[in-house]
Amino acid sequence: MKLSNYYIPTLKEAPKDADNLSAKLMIRAGLVRKLGSGLYEWLPLGFKVLKKVEQIIREEMNRAGANEIWMPIIQPKELWEESGRWEHFGDQLLKLEDRKGAGFCVSPTAEEEVTDLVRKDLSSYKQLPVCLYQFGTKFRDEIRPRFGVMRSREFYMKDAYSFAATDAQADDWYQQMYDAYQRIFTRCGFKFKAVEADTGAIGGNFSHEFMVLADNGEDAIADSDCGYAANTEKAAVKCPEFPPLNEDELLPMEKVDTPKAYTIEDVADMLKVPTSKLIKLLLFMADGKPVVALMRGDHELNEPKFRAFLKCTELVKADEETYTKITGSFVGFAGAQGLKEKHPELPIYADNYVKGVINGVSGGNEKDVHTKNVTPLRDIKVDEYCDLKIASAGDICPHCGKPFTFTRGIEVGHVFKLGTKYSKAMNATFLDETQKAQPMIMGCYGIGVGRVVAAAIEQSHDDNGIIWPAPLAPFDVALVAIDYHSNPEVKKHADEICAALEAKGLDVLLDDRDERAGIKFKDMDLIGLPYRLVVSSRTVKDGQCEYKKRTDKEAVRWNLSEAVEKILAATGK
Ligand code: ATP
Ligand code: MG
Repeated sequence: MKLSNYYIPTLKEAPKDADNLSAKLMIRAGLVRKLGSGLYEWLPLGFKVLKKVEQIIREEMNRAGANEIWMPIIQPKELWEESGRWEHFGDQLLKLEDRKGAGFCVSPTAEEEVTDLVRKDLSSYKQLPVCLYQFGTKFRDEIRPRFGVMRSREFYMKDAYSFAATDAQADDWYQQMYDAYQRIFTRCGFKFKAVEADTGAIGGNFSHEFMVLADNGEDAIADSDCGYAANTEKAAVKCPEFPPLNEDELLPMEKVDTPKAYTIEDVADMLKVPTSKLIKLLLFMADGKPVVALMRGDHELNEPKFRAFLKCTELVKADEETYTKITGSFVGFAGAQGLKEKHPELPIYADNYVKGVINGVSGGNEKDVHTKNVTPLRDIKVDEYCDLKIASAGDICPHCGKPFTFTRGIEVGHVFKLGTKYSKAMNATFLDETQKAQPMIMGCYGIGVGRVVAAAIEQSHDDNGIIWPAPLAPFDVALVAIDYHSNPEVKKHADEICAALEAKGLDVLLDDRDERAGIKFKDMDLIGLPYRLVVSSRTVKDGQCEYKKRTDKEAVRWNLSEAVEKILAATGK
């Protein structure tokens, strides 16, 4: 392919709204363009990479025995009402009406659609298990689209769904997909890790996320020596046992003035106590009902964990008005001592660590007042102590008792065992061996194809641009011809090498532009093809060319006559 015929609008500078490294490089290298918030066009070079990733995924899905299908992106409202998600999916669901007023949504995922598909065709255990998959556009109206194609609103996804007659079959499909994902991300050239994950809005029994390890990944991973690894959204934390209360140590509660101390830090400074002595009161609405969570001042509440604990669908912070009404106090000054006595129906949960607070500090239930010497086990009626905190430095793995280490990652794929959530709701049943109707047992398996491309760049780049892992590179070889138009010898050799490599099945990008060498090299570094050959007046006069891998510092000279063979050897083709 001649660069003069190819649409690669590279840029010196990234636009201001490109908010992470891969977004900047994808725009600068001419892989994508932004149409609007969370909406991207894929240009030829980027689209080629997207297709490479797609092909790796397709091959491994087929190898695992899944069948490729294609389903509409516009889905009827009725299916989503059957599953209950028309209401519960939340604002990410883009809803539409057709000219007759019938309701539809733009697919953010396709459990309903595929369940409807199989329930119409499958009726016997003899037809199960099956696994269907598709590639297609998804739309989620993300609150904060960011990081380019990594968290966009419209994005390209591979989604697969398995249907089984027995739990063993369902688990087997989960494992097949888990193994296929291991092969896919290995083939992409990633450093990655499968971690236990929260089951989120999709719901279900258990799930793993596949994380590409990258310093500025959006997700944090808690890792343990024993092999347990989990998204910190999910990571269970073991709290140490606290000794029984020693009555002699306990001081009586006492109110103190804390004017204008609105934050945990303000209060701790003013009262000269560590933040770990403070008890935070958080008020949430869980599916519309108020619920209190108490946390130690230095710990953060993990909302997905709390949501899973409460088994609720929607969990949001209560607004100021509700807070004031229920606690009878101002935001920042509410304490849970006496709260249960006032509101017996109000559930109060506390993180396990709160149990260990002795003579602590809590809101005083009056403006500018806190209460000292609060000992929750003595002073606060708690319904249940439970694990609510976000895993953080120093926390202990519940499986081996050793401290976690933390890394960051980008979630590129997700496998869920769904169980019968959708098949029950949508009546997708089959007749078992005894002719009894049973709900199918489902799994679902997604990969964000566009996010994989961005993750590859996050993991592999330098100051000059992208460094593609060879299996994802849009072209195998960059062939830079300098003086192509002014020196017939250069043109002849460059064309010959290009034709010979293409004949061997290599994809070559021949830079035949009438540009200075410096500009050509800069563009090629930015684009990040794994191997570069340079043919110029200087080299051809010695019967040579220059060769450099994208990761090499210096180029080496090769004889023109050997160039094709040597490149084939280097690329392993
Ligand atoms: P996240 O926690 O990042 O929002 P999710 O749990 O909502 O992801 P899934 O519903 O499991 O994601 O979707 C499957 C895959 O689709 C994810 O692993 C991710 O690679 C990709 N994906 C999800 N949301 C987006 C998005 N907004 N933009 C691009 N890719 C996405
Ligand atoms: Mg999401």
